[in-house]
Amino acid sequence: MSLVEAVAECTVSVWVVLLYELAYPNLCLGMGVFEPVSWDAVRWTYEHGPTKSGMDATTVTVSSVESVGTDAIAIDLTTPAGFEANPGQFVKLTVPVDGEPISRFYTISSPAIEETFEITLTIDPTGELGPTLAELSVGDEIDVAGPFGNAAYAGESETLVLAGGPGVGPAVGIAERTVDDGGSAAIVYLDDEPIHEQRLGALSDAGVSVFVVSDASALEDAISSVAAEHDPQVFVYGFAPFLDLATDGLTGAGLDADGAKMESFGPAPEE
Ligand SMILES: Cc1cc2nc3c(=O)[nH]c(=O)nc-3n(C[C@H](O)[C@H](O)[C@H](O)COP(=O)(O)OP(=O)(O)OC[C@H]3O[C@@H](n4cnc5c(N)ncnc54)[C@H](O)[C@@H]3O)c2cc1C
Repeated sequence: MSLVEAVAECTVSVWVVLLYELAYPNLCLGMGVFEPVSWDAVRWTYEHGPTKSGMDATTVTVSSVESVGTDAIAIDLTTPAGFEANPGQFVKLTVPVDGEPISRFYTISSPAIEETFEITLTIDPTGELGPTLAELSVGDEIDVAGPFGNAAYAGESETLVLAGGPGVGPAVGIAERTVDDGGSAAIVYLDDEPIHEQRLGALSDAGVSVFVVSDASALEDAISSVAAEHDPQVFVYGFAPFLDLATDGLTGAGLDADGAKMESFGPAPEE
C-alpha cells in the first residue's frame, strides 16, 4: 500500500498518520474521537473460559518486567515443567495484597511458550491487584494456574486480531506466531494510548497489516479493509465495552461475529 493510499483509507489526523506511515509502511492510524459505549450496554461475556484447565497453582519466578506503554507492563515468567499453552489462552495469577491472596486472569502475549512466557497488563491505579503487579521485580515468586480458555490461536494460516487496551498483548503474540508459522496476520487495535508500539512496528515491517484506531468508525473501516482481501480467523480480546464495539464492527464489515474467537477481560468499572 502506498503512503497516499494508506492515508486515503484511514480516518485520520493526517500528520500523525504520516509520521507512523513513514516509520511503519503497513501501519494505519485512524485518529478520531473515542466515544465510549454506555455502561448500560456492557455485558459480561465470559463465554469461553475457564473451560479448559491445565496445572493447578504453581510457584514461578518473574524473569523480567518491562514497561510497554503508559501504565502498561509486560511480565515474563519462568515456565513450569509441563506447562503448554497458545497465545490467547490465559492464566490465573495469585499474589498477596496486604496479606490476602488476590487472583486475576491474564492472557498470554508471547508467541510461544519457551523457557519463559509473557503476559501484558495495563495498571489501573485504583485496582485491587494491578498496582501490586506493577511493583514486581526480577526474582520475585508468584503463583500461576492454567492455562484456561479456548479463544486462542490454533494454527490458523490467516489471522485477524481485534484488540482493545491490554488486548493488544494476545494480538501481538498471535500475529508473531502466525508469521513464524508461515501464515498471514492482521491487527486492528483500538486505544487512545497505544502500547507495545515496538512490536507492532516490527510486525508492520514483517508485512503484517497493523491498524491503530481510536474510534468505532475507524475500527469498522479497518476490519473492512482486511476482510476485502482475506478470509481470516478473527480473534477479539479486551474489556466488555470493546467486545461490543468489535461485534458491531464485524457485523458492519459484513463478517460473522459468531465465528470469532472472543475473550472478555471483564465488565467496565462501575460508575
Ligand atoms: C479471561 C480474562 C483475561 C484477562 N486478560 C488480561 C490481560 O491480558 N491483561 C490485562 O491487563 N487484564 C486482563 N484481564 C483483566 C484482569 O484480570 C483484571 O481484571 C485487571 O487487571 C484489573 O484488576 P485489578 O485487580 O487491578 O482491578 P479491580 O480491583 O479488579 O477493578 C478494576 C475494575 O476495572 C475494570 N477495568 C480495569 N481496567 C480496565 C480497562 N482498561 N477498561 C475497562 N475496564 C477496566 C475491571 O474489569 C474491574 O471492573 C483479564 C480478565 C479475564 C477475565
